[in-house]
Amino acid sequence: MILFIHRKDLRTTDLPAFDAIRAAGSRSLHVLILEPFLLRKQRYLEHSGTNFLAHVSSLQQAYSLQGKQLHILYGEPDTIVRRLSEAYPVQELMIHADYTPYALHRDQSLRNTSAELGITFKLYHDSMLCDPEDFMEWCGRRESFKVFTPFYRRWRSYLAERFRPPFSSALAELETSALVEQIAQDFMVPEEVQRQLDQTAPDGQMIDASRSLEHFLNLNLQGYPKSRDRYALEGTSRISRHLNTGAISARTVYSRLTQEEAGIEEWLRQLAWRDFYLYQARLDTDFFSYEKVYDLGRLGTKYFEAWSLGRTGIPVIDAAMTQLNETGWMPNRLRMITAMFLTKNLGCPFIYGERYFRLKLSDYDNVLNRGGWLWSSSLGFDASPYFRIMNPVTQSQTHDPSGSYIRTWLPELADLPDKTIHLPRPDAIVDLKSSRALAFEIYKEILNSKGASVKPAFGNEL
Ligand SMILES: Cc1cc2nc3c(=O)[nH]c(=O)nc-3n(C[C@H](O)[C@H](O)[C@H](O)COP(=O)(O)OP(=O)(O)OC[C@H]3O[C@@H](n4cnc5c(N)ncnc54)[C@H](O)[C@@H]3O)c2cc1C
Repeated sequence: MILFIHRKDLRTTDLPAFDAIRAAGSRSLHVLILEPFLLRKQRYLEHSGTNFLAHVSSLQQAYSLQGKQLHILYGEPDTIVRRLSEAYPVQELMIHADYTPYALHRDQSLRNTSAELGITFKLYHDSMLCDPEDFMEWCGRRESFKVFTPFYRRWRSYLAERFRPPFSSALAELETSALVEQIAQDFMVPEEVQRQLDQTAPDGQMIDASRSLEHFLNLNLQGYPKSRDRYALEGTSRISRHLNTGAISARTVYSRLTQEEAGIEEWLRQLAWRDFYLYQARLDTDFFSYEKVYDLGRLGTKYFEAWSLGRTGIPVIDAAMTQLNETGWMPNRLRMITAMFLTKNLGCPFIYGERYFRLKLSDYDNVLNRGGWLWSSSLGFDASPYFRIMNPVTQSQTHDPSGSYIRTWLPELADLPDKTIHLPRPDAIVDLKSSRALAFEIYKEILNSKGASVKPAFGNEL
């Protein structure tokens, strides 16, 4: 018997572990574990939690439509594996890898438990287009890429030569097992979480990630280079919420994209950014701890709340935060503008904004979110230079000249003329010019503080 635990791989096709299960010719028990830590503080009611649960619910429907079984359990993975191994002759435990500190710790613990129970533990890499180890060997490099453009060039050639096409085994080919009733009872999903699961993707309303992809490729791919930053046009794919839950694999996206005859470069470049951050998460040992590498002690949280509520008096910032709070969505350019504004003009440590986005973004991903926040706050590989601070007013005038985005999200400003709608309101909480000058000075100092003895000023309270 093989025990397979679903993670950020909420789909039934193109899964490395499914190929391995089919090759083993063994029955398999498929579970998805909702971990108390990941659902703490009613996370399941926030946009990020709701998106995840919607995909979980949709996955369970996909299983049952194919006459297969997926068991959703609530509890500590270690405890559940121990319990399952008492009830079933589990020989192998298979999972797809995740690279965050929490996930690494959890999986090390699962590895130890498996060893203790005499179960073979198998971990498959699934999320990236390039396998970092193989990529580095192919490049003939020992040191990791620290700058995106050279990474991208090599990544393009690597994929042209070594792209690993989607895995072929389908769920229909596997023999999934039923779950002992007592175990289902003992690890039952709490009522309020179950309610969310039922509401997010009700029966018959399954999420179809491939349809979203096709929709984008057919209607918006050609216009993407121009529309991607014109955020009012909503010309991007919005595939991120499916990619990050694994409802569609990066391999499937890439292989479908490369069937297009023209106009793929710009979008492919964005997928490369995704791989670049995932690559950093694995190869940059500081990636998850920059707040401890640099001294952020001169920063503070005075304006954080006003920013999070969309009450800064800078129209484009307040519009973007309103959209985020209400819908769980914010276009990429606005993520950059709001993040830079919080960390630079408002002088707030990036980890506060990172944490806020973690709850609010429906497409939240631990690595990509951290990557975006590091970039905006000039920390980490190939980050935005500390002296290049985006001016939210100029950005708004450039990317949405008519102010239609502001008009949509801040209806109280809808009657302002195009010329004035972008400008700071009389009650703006900071002066853009002087806060920018101060940020230059402070961030210069922060970047010089690397390696100095840094007090972990903010980490503990988050
Ligand atoms: C502060 C900040 C926080 C962010 N947090 C997240 C997050 O939690 N989850 C997330 O998926 N993305 C995050 N991003 C990256 C980016 O904003 C989103 O991936 C993008 O907006 C998703 O929209 P889309 O699917 O329509 O993208 P498209 O423009 O259609 O791009 C296709 C795919 O390319 C990748 N991509 C696009 N832009 C970027 C980028 N700048 N960095 C890395 N990958 C990219 C994504 O996987 C995206 O789905 C963040 C960016 C910033 C600046």
